[in-house]
Amino acid sequence: QEEVYDVVVIGAGGAGLSAAIEIKGAGASVVVLEKMAFIGGNTLISGGELNAPETWIQEKLGIEDSIDLYKEDTLKGGDHQADEKLVTVLANNARQAVEWLRDTVNVSFKEDYLMQFGGHSVPRAAYPQGGSGNELIGKLGAKAEEMNIPVRKQTKAEEILADKDGKVNGVRAVDKDGNEIIFKANKGVIVATGGFGANVEMRKQYNSEYDERYMETVQPSSTGDGIIMAQKLGAALVGMENIQTYPTCNPATGILSYVADTRFNGAVLINKEGNRFVEELERRDVISKAILAQTDGMGYLIWDTTIKNNSHMDDYMEEFNQLVAQGMLIKADTIEEVAQFFDINVEQLKQTIEKYNQYAVNGKDEDFNRRGEIIGLTEAPYYLQKVTPAIHHTMGGLKIDTEARVIDNEGNPIPGLFAAGEVTGGIHGTNRLGGNAITDIIVFGRIAAESVLK
Ligand code: ADP
Repeated sequence: QEEVYDVVVIGAGGAGLSAAIEIKGAGASVVVLEKMAFIGGNTLISGGELNAPETWIQEKLGIEDSIDLYKEDTLKGGDHQADEKLVTVLANNARQAVEWLRDTVNVSFKEDYLMQFGGHSVPRAAYPQGGSGNELIGKLGAKAEEMNIPVRKQTKAEEILADKDGKVNGVRAVDKDGNEIIFKANKGVIVATGGFGANVEMRKQYNSEYDERYMETVQPSSTGDGIIMAQKLGAALVGMENIQTYPTCNPATGILSYVADTRFNGAVLINKEGNRFVEELERRDVISKAILAQTDGMGYLIWDTTIKNNSHMDDYMEEFNQLVAQGMLIKADTIEEVAQFFDINVEQLKQTIEKYNQYAVNGKDEDFNRRGEIIGLTEAPYYLQKVTPAIHHTMGGLKIDTEARVIDNEGNPIPGLFAAGEVTGGIHGTNRLGGNAITDIIVFGRIAAESVLK
């Protein structure tokens, strides 16, 4: 069986769908192959927020930001190990990416709110309605459907094909009934298969730390297929050892906790002894390591009703109720009660909070120099949540250039082969900042589309 298109896109996450929409919009034919029975990948289960400087929302909120500051934060967040050229492209195209989502894909964003993830100098993450990748994938999927883009679910790409001169010209895939289909690509193939966080063997191959002891936040489909397939054509890899854990996940399941995002609105991180141990708005890798070094490898977030009201906790009531049912979260009228539930040192915790509340009054955190506003814990009821890190993002992957062309081991672009999204490496260095994955997939998904049609 054989089908012919201008472009074949592998993976129907945020990167693949963005690329396909741009390709079809430019008048070319495109098919998207998706191995799962549903679209969306990790984009779907993400919070959906994306960073961009100088947006209409920043303007409305009077937040001063710049492309350079965003670029600097991103480079610094990755220990200056990222490819600066790629980060420049990311920063230069971020605002257009949010506007494209708003105007072309009809994604609806909160107009009066931005998130400030760890490592960012100012709030700059646009927040899609509901605070979930559902809004993004729902709208990207609807747009693809409206444009009559075939999205072939349960169709797994197994091999990227090339002609005798090495020009990539198609994909061999297998559908759910086991039938082999050759998808010919006249112009090229875009790899958008996401990361390899769910592939324990591959994790261990590149970084022995991240073995089976770690739980995962990611979809089971994140098995690094695109990396493995492109490697067979000589693709170079970059930064494969850089694997990110998300610091505040559900210790029962590994699932990333959005309720714990109260951290960005003021929640305080403590340990079983009732002490703080890290700045709450530090980078993900720093907080993760710090939590793992505490008793039982667990951290505890505590917040009060003021912080709750500042946050978007109410968007995540389903998760909230589940956490309560699992004994991972307690809400009660006093600090004693919430602390006792987790057998936390009550006296020490009360002292910690008393001190912290004084920092809030003085406007300075003398212990960890917490950035942003410091909010005292004073208003009952109180909330206390148990959290631990889990594998979240693989920063490494296929080496690409600023045109999203996949680069081979000799440093040359592989003709006809492009990649975008988590499958690529080099954009986030050693550590990806929150809100930068979605910016990455939209920016480079669109660039890959432009390049493949050149
Ligand atoms: P990104 O954020 O980079 O877009 P996602 O994780 O959101 O990445 O999406 C990647 C998508 O690619 C997922 O839906 C995943 O199921 C799909 N995928 C991964 N490997 C294959 C494969 N071999 N064939 C088809 N689809 C794949």
